Amino acid sequence: MVSRVIPVKPFDLVIFGGTGDLARRKILPGLFRRFIAGQMPSDARIIGAARSDIDAQGFRDMVRQAVSEFGGTLGDKALAEYDELDSFLAQLDYVTIDAMGEQGWSELRSKVRKELVNAFYFSVAPSLFGDIAERLKKHGLADEDSRIVVEKPFGRDLSSAQELNETLASFFKEKQIYRIDHYLGKETVQNLMALRFGNIMFEPLWNANYVDHIQITVAETVGVSGRGAYYDKSGAMRDMVQNHLMQLLCLIAMEPPSQFSSDSVRDEKLKVIRALQPVAPHEIVRGQYDATETTLSYREDAENPRTFTESFIMMKTHIANFRWAGVPFYLRTGKRMSNRASEIAVVFKALPHSIFDSNDHGRNVLSIQLQPDEGITMDMTIKEPGPGGMRLVNVPLDMSFADALGPDADDVPDAYERLIMDVIRGNQTLFMRGDEVEAAWAWTDPIIEDWKARNDVPKPYDSGSMGPLDSQALMQRDGRAWRELKK
Ligand code: NAD
Repeated sequence: MVSRVIPVKPFDLVIFGGTGDLARRKILPGLFRRFIAGQMPSDARIIGAARSDIDAQGFRDMVRQAVSEFGGTLGDKALAEYDELDSFLAQLDYVTIDAMGEQGWSELRSKVRKELVNAFYFSVAPSLFGDIAERLKKHGLADEDSRIVVEKPFGRDLSSAQELNETLASFFKEKQIYRIDHYLGKETVQNLMALRFGNIMFEPLWNANYVDHIQITVAETVGVSGRGAYYDKSGAMRDMVQNHLMQLLCLIAMEPPSQFSSDSVRDEKLKVIRALQPVAPHEIVRGQYDATETTLSYREDAENPRTFTESFIMMKTHIANFRWAGVPFYLRTGKRMSNRASEIAVVFKALPHSIFDSNDHGRNVLSIQLQPDEGITMDMTIKEPGPGGMRLVNVPLDMSFADALGPDADDVPDAYERLIMDVIRGNQTLFMRGDEVEAAWAWTDPIIEDWKARNDVPKPYDSGSMGPLDSQALMQRDGRAWRELKK
C-alpha cells in the first residue's frame, strides 16, 4: 500500500501555551511526525507564545527535550533520533506573551505572515480564551481567513459554554473556530464512518431491528493524582461523557449524512444529541476508586475527604428516534480500572431461529477498539474446524491496522497531528460545532443537577477493577453483560 502524504499549504501556526504540558506531550511531537512524513512545508513556521521568558533558541531546546521525552518511536527508531529534527527545530520561533496584558503582541504581529494560512492554537486554560481572542483582533493578527483552535473543557455547563461561544463569536465566525475533541482525530473513529457509509452490508442492519444494544467503554488505569483538585471540580461525567463518549455515540448512531462535509456530518450528530433521552437515576452508577497498598484513594487524590465527585460512571441511555427506539446504549468510563482500553461494541440480536442444535454459540458483535491498539473486529459464528460433527464456534475476524497496513501503519497520524493538519486545510468535519457542544451540555446538566439535589454519593470500587459491581448488575438486570476488554 503506497502512503499518500499531501503537503498542506504553507502556514504560520501560533501555539499559545507552547511551553505547557499539552504542547510538549502531544502538539509539538505530533507536528514533528508530520514534518518527517513530509506534510509540513519547508516555509511553514510554528511560533510558541507563552508566559515563559525564553527566546527562540530556548524554545527549540525545550521542544528537542519534549520530542525525546514524549515522542515515542516511529518505525523502529526513537522519534528524537530522526535526522530531520534540526530542520524541524529551525522552523520554530517563540514570543514571550501575556494573554491578559499587552506584552509581546506587537512582536507576534511582526512575525505572523498574513499571506499564509494563519492558525492560532489556544493551548491554555479556558479562562484565557476570551482574552486571547480579543487581543488577536485588537492587534490586527486575525482576519476572516484565520483559524482558532480551542481545547477542552469547553465550558462546565450549558450557561458557561453559551457564554464562551458568545465571546468567541464576537471575534470569530463559526467557520473559523475549531473545538478539539481528540477522540474524533483517531484513525478508528474515522474508520467507523468509512465502515458504516462506505460498505453496503452494515447500514441495512444498523438499527433497532437487528442491533440488540451498544456498549461504549473508555477505561483508564491511571488515577487523578497530581491533578486531583482540578479533576474534582469536573468528574467523569463532565470530563469524559459530555465530550468524548458523546462524540463516539454520535458517530455510531447518526443518520448517513448526504455528503462527507463538515456541516452535513455535524448536523446529523446534533440530531442524535438532541434525541438523547434523559437518564433516570436508577440507570446510572457512579463510583470512586479505593486506595491500594501503593496508591491513594480518589478522595485522597482529590484532597477532599467529603467529595461526591465521580471517578467512574456507567449509564444506560436511549435515543428517541425511528432507528434506535428501544435500543439501549450503555456507556462507562473511569479511572484506575483494570485495563487501559477503549472500545465501542455493536452487539447484534440473536438469530430468530437456529437450525443447529444450539443457539448459544454467540452473537455477531462488531467491535471498534480505540485503545491500546486501534482496530476493528467482527465476531462471527463458524463451524469449528475438524471432524466431530457440526460444532459451532464464535471467532473474531480481526482487522488490526498494524497487520492490514504493514509498514504504512506507522504513517497513520496520531489524533492531534491529524486534527492540526485539518485546521490548516480548513476542514472542520472532525471538530465540534458550537451548537453540538451546547446540546451536549443541555443533556448533561439536569443529570448532574439531580445528583447535587439528592446529595448522591458515589459507590466505592477497587482500584484495578472495572468499577462498582452495580455497573455489572445494571447490565445483568437487562439480561446482558459487559464484554471483556482486550488487555
Ligand atoms: P499547562 O498549565 O501545562 O500550560 C499552560 C500554558 O499556558 C503554559 O505554556 C503557560 O506559559 C501559558 N500561560 C498561562 N498563563 C498565561 C498568560 N497569562 N499569558 C500567556 N501564556 C500563559 O496546561 P496544559 O496542560 O498544557 O493545558 C492547556 C489546555 O489544554 C487547557 O485548556 C487544558 O484543559 C487542555 N488540555 C490539556 C490536556 C493535557 O494532556 N495536558 C489534555 C486535554 C486538554
